[in-house]
Amino acid sequence: MKLTVVGCSGSFPSTESACSSYLVEADGYRILLDMGNGALGELQRHIGLYDLDAVLLSHLHPDHCIDMCGYFVARYYRHEGGRAGAIPVYGPEGTEKRLVTAYGDVPHEACMSEVFDFRTLEPGTFPLGPLTIRTVRVSHPVEAFAFRVEHRGSSLVYSGDTGPCEALGELSRGADLLLCEASFTHGKEDIPDLHLNGLQAGQTAARAAVGRLVLTHIPPWTDPLTNLRDARSVYEGPAELAHAGAVYEL
Ligand SMILES: [Zn+2]
Ligand SMILES: [Zn+2]
Repeated sequence: MKLTVVGCSGSFPSTESACSSYLVEADGYRILLDMGNGALGELQRHIGLYDLDAVLLSHLHPDHCIDMCGYFVARYYRHEGGRAGAIPVYGPEGTEKRLVTAYGDVPHEACMSEVFDFRTLEPGTFPLGPLTIRTVRVSHPVEAFAFRVEHRGSSLVYSGDTGPCEALGELSRGADLLLCEASFTHGKEDIPDLHLNGLQAGQTAARAAVGRLVLTHIPPWTDPLTNLRDARSVYEGPAELAHAGAVYEL
């Protein structure tokens, strides 16, 4: 299983990175976890526009889903070969309505479902191509999910956006890699049920005994090195900052 960081900036894009988007590939099957602002452009550095087999949206904040509007254009109005077929798009309840509303001037109400096969996420486990996906609800102001992706004994967990949350710890248990949000800075911001800070991401990784911690979703106004230092103060395994274009083989 191969993980590519397409975009990792938190809340809004930075000069270095688009917002949340992570490409996972195994046995030639390709899924994208989130498609935030700017991700569609970056994605094309790694694969072709029509090479995705499925998209999973952790929640419906724009920095995780808004480039699906542009991706709709790319699939619906494809110039060569006609309209692209519908790929599965997993998201919280109301994903289709949210994207149609965001797009605004759609040709007709059901047009997005011609290129996206919308499926509503619920906590649980389901197969997706050669992968197994486990989802849990996490702690955020809107319905939000974390994902565990498994393939032939390898596993990665993506936190999505969450405040401190036991379900994330359980989902992460023993994972080879935890891609964990660290939007806040310990001692600076403390708003419950919104985001983790570096220390809390490190604590989650330590308790779950993951093999590697990658901090992500750090907004441009937050000092990433402070968050990394805080995470390393409690997690002894390898810990690093996500950056656009980073690749992990699991
Ligand atoms: Zn976010
Ligand atoms: Zn969010």
